[in-house]
Amino acid sequence: MSPPCSRCNSPRVINLETARKLGTAAGALAGSFRGAYASLYSHGRLLVASTQFPLSRVATAVVAATTGGIAGATAGNQMIKSLFPPGEGTPWLCLGCGHAFRILD
Ligand SMILES: [Zn+2]
Repeated sequence: MSPPCSRCNSPRVINLETARKLGTAAGALAGSFRGAYASLYSHGRLLVASTQFPLSRVATAVVAATTGGIAGATAGNQMIKSLFPPGEGTPWLCLGCGHAFRILD
């Protein structure tokens, strides 16, 4: 159950802990895709002939995807964490006025 905003009393608030987990997952996913895509298509042409597909490039893509995923997850995590208000309790973000606040359980 979400509490109303402590500033504008709006019931439209989101749990920042949940948002951080989602942001981390989304960031990791986006980073992975970007990393794999960039390493596979970095030469500006599509690799269509699978028989000529160099295995080393697959390995590079996997490494890039992993690295991008970690970087993306960190970025997503950091971005959401910067919204966290200081203090104890569950962090909430009001979607009505953008006020971040904490509620002690
Ligand atoms: Zn508010």
